[in-house]
Amino acid sequence: MVDSVIGEKFHMLTVICQLESHDKRRKLLLCQCDCGRYIVASRGEVVGGRKRNCGNKSHHYIDISGHQFGRLTAIKEVGETSSGDKKWLCQCECGNQVVVKSYALRKGLTRSCGCLRRELGQKRFANDIRFLANKGNSTSFLSADGVNLVSLRKGERNTSGVIGVSKEKKTGWWNARLYFNGKYVLLKTFDSFEEAVAARKNAEAQYLQRNYQVEQHSVAND
Ligand SMILES: [Zn+2]
Ligand SMILES: [Zn+2]
Repeated sequence: MVDSVIGEKFHMLTVICQLESHDKRRKLLLCQCDCGRYIVASRGEVVGGRKRNCGNKSHHYIDISGHQFGRLTAIKEVGETSSGDKKWLCQCECGNQVVVKSYALRKGLTRSCGCLRRELGQKRFANDIRFLANKGNSTSFLSADGVNLVSLRKGERNTSGVIGVSKEKKTGWWNARLYFNGKYVLLKTFDSFEEAVAARKNAEAQYLQRNYQVEQHSVAND
């Protein structure tokens, strides 16, 4: 019989399978503790939370002090969770300190104070822009969150709605600019808006496809 709790995790126990039992009212489950040991417990004990781990406390104390897990280095044990797993104070490479469950460290579920995830999020954000910019219409692209990226990146001086293209008030000419790797690779004036946009797009295709990260910084400083 397929039991719905098979594969589920209750505190430190993961249900492996249901065992044959003479007593039909007492369903027995084979479970694996986070520490690796197997135990047999009744379904009621496991689901009800009366059994939360293999019961071998000393077994759960695994000395990981000084060990590195991603960006985290375990410093010292600082207690245990309600499930019975040990909590460790960790030093992150970025300077922060966090308390993490031993299991999460050993299984690679937690590898930083959160800074790693934030950085990955930023990379994903950059890929978002790149993906949408490649679709050709850089005047109205939105991030996955629906944020209008143009409005985030458009400077005060920009009067055209297109990044890097602005109108000179006095002359009525259009300036096309692209700041890349610390210098302007495009800095020209055109009679028409269309020409300026085309020049900017050409420059984007030439420089930005190769190194999008740098472009992001240059826009911020622009
Ligand atoms: Zn255990
Ligand atoms: Zn960190």
